[in-house]
Parts: sequence; structure tokens; C-alpha cells
Amino acid sequence: MIRTKTVAFSKNCTNIFFHILTKCNLKCRHCYINPGQHGENTLPLSVITAWLEAFAQGSNSKNLIFLGGEPTLHPDLPAAVKYARNLGFGSITIDTNGYLFHDILLKVKPSEVDYFSFSLDGATRETNDRIRGAGSFDTCIAGIRKANSMGFATSLIFTASSANIHEMDRLPPLLKDLGIDRFFIQIIGLRGRSAIGNQTRIRRQKLQVAKSQWLNTIPQVARRIAEFGITVTYPKVFLDPAENFECAGLVADNYFVFPNGRVYRCPLCEDFALHSLIFKNNRLVPAEKLNERDLFQLNIAEGCVMNKLIQPDNLSYDSAGEPEFKIACCLLKEEIRNANDSSRNH
Ligand code: SF4
Ligand code: SF4
Repeated sequence: MIRTKTVAFSKNCTNIFFHILTKCNLKCRHCYINPGQHGENTLPLSVITAWLEAFAQGSNSKNLIFLGGEPTLHPDLPAAVKYARNLGFGSITIDTNGYLFHDILLKVKPSEVDYFSFSLDGATRETNDRIRGAGSFDTCIAGIRKANSMGFATSLIFTASSANIHEMDRLPPLLKDLGIDRFFIQIIGLRGRSAIGNQTRIRRQKLQVAKSQWLNTIPQVARRIAEFGITVTYPKVFLDPAENFECAGLVADNYFVFPNGRVYRCPLCEDFALHSLIFKNNRLVPAEKLNERDLFQLNIAEGCVMNKLIQPDNLSYDSAGEPEFKIACCLLKEEIRNANDSSRNH
């Protein structure tokens, strides 16, 4: 039986998204990394371990995700993983574009890394490589197969946009064949590179997916994939006017850490100097006001305040000027899994 549930923000679990560098070998069209706001430095291992220690209290209920840029470009990633494991983090994930630099699969063990999470943005070589760069499809597929063959659990992240949503119905057999454990669908945002040079309404609409297209495509594809025993997660995005809205910045515990020391609680704030925390001398301290925390308090009929500020084109209003729907917090997810199959529920 396939079960769909909205994953409420967990009050008992913390997610730390740790960008240890912003350097990357690819130039994906929708990359959210913004070196002007996130830094261009590569954190030395001594700083990585100091910052991990800042999050170490109660670490067994904390999920740690190493990201970049491409985190496997960092030669000290294996040492950082082992350090984090010893600190007791509940789960450790490495997000990667699949190039798996520095022989990372040979330098960490499945007992040290809970998931390798790969990014692919097309069901075909042609579409994926148009978005992510020539050769990236084959490299990613080969990386997934190699990680699986070495006993690592794997996830796949797919960023849906108008450039690839048309071929999402070709994903279920591909994911089954690859032996993926978890599948995450993201929606294209207007952050980082996807925001640069895309400031006009027409250009923004080119990459963004219309509400009807999202609702007609994503839930059905997610169900088909879940039937293979793969846990599928995708953002809820749209709420009816009567549905309850919550801002994760107020009720959840997520940290988006960047190599320049900025720490955000909301991913939509990452293109601005709105971080609510910052590392100073390797200590995590509150950032100056005004910051994202001041925005989280605002209660508007459209739902997410940051959405209204940076991507108002995805809102619509009735003749009385009331919003026809609310935009949910980008961190509110739907999760679909096959309730009969517990073998893959890591
Ligand atoms: S999206 Fe990821 S893989 Fe692509 S350029 Fe950005 S950091 Fe690199
Ligand atoms: S995306 Fe919107 S609702 Fe979610 S944390 Fe950010 S401001 Fe709050």
C-alpha cells in the first residue's frame, strides 16, 4: 500500500547542511551557490571540525549533510566524515554531482556515510547534460552504480523545472534499475545562478513550473516511484487558503552553513545578507539585525514571506484581491513510501 503524508517539521530533529567549499567542477544552470554571498574559500579541516563541534551537543538526533560546491573536491572530506561520526551525528550524508573526486568511495565506509546523495536533472543524457553539462549524466549514473556495488545507500535529487519536467515520467524505471533508496524532488528556485540574468518576468517563468503542471505531474510520478520501494519526498509548495501555514524558521531546526561563516535558517534567504547566525572565531553567535528572523515573524495571507519578496510571480489573486492559494514553506515536504516494503526504510 502506498502511503502519502505531509512531513511536519520535526521539533526533535536537527538538519545541518554544511557547505565546506563553494568550488565545483560543473556549472549547472540552476546552481544556487552564490560565491558573493557564500564565500569562495575552502574551509580547512581544523575549521570544519571546530564548526562540527559547535553542533555536536545532542548530535545523535542531528542529520549532517556535507555539501559544496562539490564536497568531494575537498581532500579532507574523509577526515571530516570520520570526525563527525565520532562526534555521534545521527546520520551523515554526502551530496555529490557524481564525479566522486579523490577516490572518496575508497576512503570512507558504509558504516561512516549513511547516504551518498547524487544529483541528476534529466531522465535522459540529452536533457540532463543540457542543464548540468556535457558528460554529467554518464558520470553520475556510473557513480551511483559504483557506490551501490560497494555497499553504500544512495539517494537521488532531481530539480524539476520547465527544462525537464516533461520527461519525469521516464524516471521510475531508471531509478528502479539504479537501485536508489530515496528520491528527492526539488522545485526550481530563483537563487544563485538561476537568479542571475533572470530578473525579467518572462525569463523567470521560463524555468519555473506552473502550478497546474506541478500538480498534474509530481504526485503521480512520485507514486509510481514509491511502488518500487523507494521513499520519495517532494515539496508541498501549494496550500489551500484554509490550510495551516507554518514557517520552518520559527518551528524547525535547520542550519545552512556556508564557508564564509554565515549560517541561515531559511534557504530562500541565502542570496542576501539576512543570515541569523554567524561563526566568529569558530563560535556560532547571533548575527546583527535586521535578519531573517525578523522576516519569519511576519504573518501574510500569501504564506511564505520570502516567496512573496523574491518570486511573487508564482502567486495569483482572485477578483477581491485575496490570494487564491498560499505558498507553503519550501521546507514542508510530502513523503510517499510503500507501506508494505520496510526493507529500504533506512
Ligand atoms: S548545482 Fe551542484 S553540481 Fe551543479 S554547479 Fe552547483 S554545486 Fe556544482
Ligand atoms: S521558506 Fe518561507 S516559510 Fe520557509 S523558512 Fe523561509 S521564510 Fe519561512
